Amino acid sequence: MSIFRNRSASLLTKHGKEVVISSVLDAELGCQVKQTDAYDTDLLGTFTQEIPRYGSQLDAARKKAKLGMELLNLDLGIANEGAFVNDPYAGILSWNNELVVLIDQKNDLELTGFSGAPAQSDSGYFSHWEELSQFTDSALFPSHYLVIKPTDEYHPQSRKGIKDLPELKDAFEWAKALSSKGIVYVENDLRAFANPTRMENIRKATIDLAQKMKSLCPKCQAPGFWVKDIQRGLPCNACGLPTEQEIAKIWGCLKCDHQDTEGMKVLRFADPSKCHHCNP
Ligand SMILES: [Zn+2]
Ligand SMILES: [Zn+2]
Repeated sequence: MSIFRNRSASLLTKHGKEVVISSVLDAELGCQVKQTDAYDTDLLGTFTQEIPRYGSQLDAARKKAKLGMELLNLDLGIANEGAFVNDPYAGILSWNNELVVLIDQKNDLELTGFSGAPAQSDSGYFSHWEELSQFTDSALFPSHYLVIKPTDEYHPQSRKGIKDLPELKDAFEWAKALSSKGIVYVENDLRAFANPTRMENIRKATIDLAQKMKSLCPKCQAPGFWVKDIQRGLPCNACGLPTEQEIAKIWGCLKCDHQDTEGMKVLRFADPSKCHHCNP
């Protein structure tokens, strides 16, 4: 039986993440999530420029998990931290990396779930209402909420969580009046409750975490037995030189020295199209 079954995990959030995170952990592991918003997580960073993020994505997630555990006096804590970057392939699309961390003080364990996916993160500058109402289609408004600022993204004033057309019109007039150039900046609200695309990615990261929580070391039974390294260098089918293609996955335990190698059993070769020597 899982060491997480029938335990309660803290989740510090004021952005509605408990719905997706608790449904996954309850169904997969019988682990209950207790939500708290007794600490304002925006103090650890916002997506709207007011407050820079506390450390790295993992640092911020760990900090939130520990705060939640202290607030609810639990020995198990979960937290999520998201990041918006350019996509890892062409570097031109908006991309969302979600990290969910689990800290188990009782068993001295830390596990992380991860998911990367295209983001719904559009933005633009507008001086006419007609342009802005066209932008709402690409921003997937109103299922995805908007943020409005006078002049540019660095303006100290903003209206967030805009979720219908009358509210948007009102915010547009407000921001335009405050802007020295009569221009307003509009972007997708990236907070989880305001952005269903992001919420779905948080769900995927939680599923990844749950898979790791369920994967036990064959030797010591500790959870989190997972791929820790990928060995590359599969020989090319034409010239025999090593390529960047994968040879094997190395699975490892977080607690003991046990490891397994997966994928080495059959003799395989890389397609010459993947070879830098044959196909530079
Ligand atoms: Zn082990
Ligand atoms: Zn080759």
